[in-house]
Amino acid sequence: MTEKPRIVIVGGGFAGLNLVKRIDKEKYDVTLVDRNNFHSFPPLFYQIASCGLDPGSISFPFRREMRKDSVKGSHYRFGEVRTIDVARKEIHTQFETLKYDKLIIAAGTTNNFFNSPDLVKYVYTIKTTAEAMRCRYEILDRLERAALTKDRTLRRNLLSFVVVGGGPSGVEVAGALGEMKRYILPREYPDISPDDLSIVLLEGTDRVLGAMSAVSSRKALEYLGKLMVEVKLGRLMKSYEDDVITLDDGSRLTAGMLIWTAGITGVSFDIVGAEIALAPGRRFEVDEFNRVKGLDDIYAVGDIAYMKSDDYPRGYPQLAQVAIQQARLLASHLNKNRFEKPFVYDDKGSMATVGRNLAVADLKKGHLSGWIAWMAWMFIHLISILGMRNKLTVLINWIWSYCTYTTSLRILLHTTRYPLRRRWGEK
Ligand SMILES: Cc1cc2nc3c(=O)[nH]c(=O)nc-3n(C[C@H](O)[C@H](O)[C@H](O)COP(=O)(O)OP(=O)(O)OC[C@H]3O[C@@H](n4cnc5c(N)ncnc54)[C@H](O)[C@@H]3O)c2cc1C
Repeated sequence: MTEKPRIVIVGGGFAGLNLVKRIDKEKYDVTLVDRNNFHSFPPLFYQIASCGLDPGSISFPFRREMRKDSVKGSHYRFGEVRTIDVARKEIHTQFETLKYDKLIIAAGTTNNFFNSPDLVKYVYTIKTTAEAMRCRYEILDRLERAALTKDRTLRRNLLSFVVVGGGPSGVEVAGALGEMKRYILPREYPDISPDDLSIVLLEGTDRVLGAMSAVSSRKALEYLGKLMVEVKLGRLMKSYEDDVITLDDGSRLTAGMLIWTAGITGVSFDIVGAEIALAPGRRFEVDEFNRVKGLDDIYAVGDIAYMKSDDYPRGYPQLAQVAIQQARLLASHLNKNRFEKPFVYDDKGSMATVGRNLAVADLKKGHLSGWIAWMAWMFIHLISILGMRNKLTVLINWIWSYCTYTTSLRILLHTTRYPLRRRWGEK
């Protein structure tokens, strides 16, 4: 018996998981490596941060997924890939070395702080489940501390939230904070006046949701206003120190808590055995078949891939649908062992939600806004979440929140002191 060629996939997000499902396990020995033991659903991270959903309802353990028929025969390995040794055809995690015949990099992106070390120290982010949970606890902690103090200046400082970045994540998290201020604060925190909680959304360009249509941008701005979010457009943050943001025009803004959604950059690896220049956003430049330029038998898919086309001269957008479509096409090419059909993105439209009954959607033919867009947004997200149990949990949570104007997930857990180690697996 001859051994099957080994395909190693780094990252089990939208791209990686679709690859595992579709690559023919009769032909290849498929191994998925992910630093988390679960697949997650980033479009709803903002709901984790704002107590709308629990992480378990939008996460799916890889080992459970591996039991399914479409995935049977593939393997999952827990670990963070740090080095790719191109010459020896192996990857290294903190735990082990794995050999590959073909390597698919689908590790996505991480926060981009634009080389500002101070930001790393102080800002909150929602790029992973763990980051969204940290953000949630900080918000809850601030609300409780604000309810205790008699000092109004301190209370206002504690409750001054600034969200930097007016893309979908920034708009969604600012909107969720607005809903907290509007619906939850008056009912559950009688010691805090809603006037003491401020939410500012800071965006460097002249509109929010810059990747969407002008109509949707305008609507989103109007909806943010309804939720008492102050939007500052065309202003860049210069520095953040002692709870004060300095803007590019010299003005200053109090930000007790700063939520950073303003930039992403490719996950980085040490590449050994080859010289490779990364494309903008620290992404791997690939051809129209997702083959990394200059590296044999290595592919990059999804957010970490930089593929240009006539329609997208600056690379395809970093969106779930691009990742899924690229993964499906690459799997079919690998199964046939023939690269014949170049990738073309089928843009099915984009959506963003600001709050209950307040969403916007750009479709192939026209735009939706308000309640109907919100319904469409909920439906699309619900069918995209992995697992029936998860779909039901999310649906029940949403119906509950819709009827009661509240969520039941506002439990504040502090991290434990012992044992003294930073991460699982570290001594
Ligand atoms: C808050 C937020 C909201 C979003 N909202 C939307 C939306 O509404 N619509 C939309 O289309 N897109 C949205 N996106 C973008 C969308 O999530 C991405 O385009 C999509 O997840 C890209 O898929 P991917 O498989 O390339 O990467 P990811 O889904 O990010 O998956 C990467 C995987 O790689 C793993 N990984 C990373 N580094 C390593 C390593 N070194 N070793 C091992 N494993 C590693 C990660 O744990 C993860 O499982 C959003 C993103 C965020 C963060």
